[in-house]
Amino acid sequence: MSAQILPVTPLHCGPALPVIELAQTDRLRALHAQMRDKRACQSTFTFYADQVIRLLLEQAYALLPFSDYQVTTPLGVPYQGKRLATGLCAVSVMRAGESMEFELQRINRDIPIGKILVQRHQQSKQPHLYYSKLPGNIADGYVMLFEPMLATGGSALCALDVLLEEGVRADRILLLNLLSSPAGLTRIAQQQPGVQIITSSIEQGLTEHAYMLPGIGDFGDRYFGTWQAEAV
Ligand code: URA
Repeated sequence: MSAQILPVTPLHCGPALPVIELAQTDRLRALHAQMRDKRACQSTFTFYADQVIRLLLEQAYALLPFSDYQVTTPLGVPYQGKRLATGLCAVSVMRAGESMEFELQRINRDIPIGKILVQRHQQSKQPHLYYSKLPGNIADGYVMLFEPMLATGGSALCALDVLLEEGVRADRILLLNLLSSPAGLTRIAQQQPGVQIITSSIEQGLTEHAYMLPGIGDFGDRYFGTWQAEAV
């Protein structure tokens, strides 16, 4: 089943940004239903979120260049295969982005993973870079940027600035997220055309507190089990 490539045409700005939204198959919607259900406990949530993350990663790998690679099977016969033909690393926007590292490491055991910590600054209320640690030679290859919730796009833009300042080419950045808002996509389109976004769902919108609708709640809290139990 092929993914849908949706040109998101932002208002008042330049080129449309290609967004790949995973095909909304019954299977994907079943995973989303389990994951979005407010009754899901942490293990249920992570069990289904990991499966969606795997689909996002497979879609990202489908965009990477591969070259021919021949091996000989135990029967002495050559097999014409492929192997990745580019440097590749991942960078997680902490903390929620770290949830995407587990499935990545099941695909690629030796992949370097960088970290970026962006939080709203107490005074300015703007996204502020607090910490980054990036793999060496990051500018030589492709980078998968993990930001599972693309809501306003503020943290993603801050993280993209860090990568671009490090010399990574915009057209070699794959920004992966489970949910994205039209406003967040539009903002990235305006400010960072060239970055490829891969999402498993484009949501209806945002609440006044920047939660997506219909949404999933706080992804990091649900994935890492840090939410406060509701008062009964
Ligand atoms: N972050 C989340 O965890 N959820 C949202 O809906 C938006 C941002």
